[in-house]
Amino acid sequence: MTLDYNSLLMALAVSTTCLALTSLGSWFVRRSETFLLTCTVGLVLIVSGIVAYGMYVDEPVVVLAVVAFALFYAGFAIIWAAGCQFRTDRLRLRATVACALLAMLVSIPPLLIGYDGLAFIAENAAIAAMLFATAYQYWRAREEAPAPLTGITALYCLTAISFVLCAAVLIANGKMVLGVAPSNWAEDLSLAICIASMTGIGALSLALHQWRLAARHRLEAITDPLTGLLNRRALFDRYGQGLMRPASAVLIFDLDHFKSINDTFGHAGGDRVLKIFAAELAANCRTGDTAARLGGEEFALVLQEVIPDRAEIVAERIRKAFAGREIYLEDETLKCTVSVGVAPGRSTPVDFDTMLSVADKALYTAKRAGRNRIEVAAHLHPVPAGAVRTGS
Ligand code: GH3
Ligand code: MG
Ligand code: MG
Repeated sequence: MTLDYNSLLMALAVSTTCLALTSLGSWFVRRSETFLLTCTVGLVLIVSGIVAYGMYVDEPVVVLAVVAFALFYAGFAIIWAAGCQFRTDRLRLRATVACALLAMLVSIPPLLIGYDGLAFIAENAAIAAMLFATAYQYWRAREEAPAPLTGITALYCLTAISFVLCAAVLIANGKMVLGVAPSNWAEDLSLAICIASMTGIGALSLALHQWRLAARHRLEAITDPLTGLLNRRALFDRYGQGLMRPASAVLIFDLDHFKSINDTFGHAGGDRVLKIFAAELAANCRTGDTAARLGGEEFALVLQEVIPDRAEIVAERIRKAFAGREIYLEDETLKCTVSVGVAPGRSTPVDFDTMLSVADKALYTAKRAGRNRIEVAAHLHPVPAGAVRTGS
């Protein structure tokens, strides 16, 4: 069986359309992934370009080549933009337009003055550059999902190389005026590679989409949506099974009279205070520490490798910073406080539940002793506010 060039072009149009539909379908599943929509727009333009180019192959009138070139440049520039958007979540509209216009500028004028051979060399080089640039975007993002992203990078590179070959063969032939669409072994090879790459990129994009969805779900399952801190489940997943070493400490924070904040400023006002406290907690975390929201207005901080007294120092620093903070709610300035229960590591390792309940008892003591203070479980007397050395 032999296939003519136009049948292969048709096959490419079909595989590119499939990829566009895959992108669009994936975007419907998760609308926040706007890069998929950008990708769909780029692919639709490329398919239109393939149709126009197919017409030019049948009947080589310049206007068809100009239309095909313009559609290809717009399409490939948008595909590059989708790559950038995938990596950075930003649509670089101006750079995309500049990229497409530059490609038009270098290849359409020669086409209009009859140097179509030169125009096709420039066209192949421009598309190759855009494909390499797209590959680079996915390569830079590979950490997120190494296998599918490396595959996508490789396929974009392979396609780009096939365009470089087309340009190289045209240069080697040395004809600046062709009068028809270029036809040589590199064109046939490039077409075959494009068909295979489009299919491969489609399959890998689906895998990538699933990968991203699964990662997002995993993250959502362990994150408290209001504060962005880890939730109770994540804290227990991390520490629930093992033993807490002597150099660790567990701190529980409970905002004082929080109910009255809700009563006065409404639930939204209360939520704002919770976010502010969570930010304070996160700002005091070192690498290896874990901050989490236990629920309601209760938070936990797990410290690792603490030198003696550091747990108290950290607790006091957070208490003091929060108490000193002015919070603006409904044109009013509000001050809030927090009580803290500290369970320093025991001389022998104990489980996390035990540490947590020791910290909870200390917290209860701090509340009874008047709030806005820290209580360290190891010392049975409360540490009055301001009485602890600060600075680590
Ligand atoms: P104490 O000083 O003894 O800790 O008193 P409190 O008022 O802080 O404690 P209490 O347990 O009586 O009230 C906690 C309140 O926290 C009750 C509940 O409505 C509120 N709360 C729990 N979760 C949320 C939340 O996500 N957002 C807001 N705004 N309020 C919450
Ligand atoms: Mg409470
Ligand atoms: Mg409270």
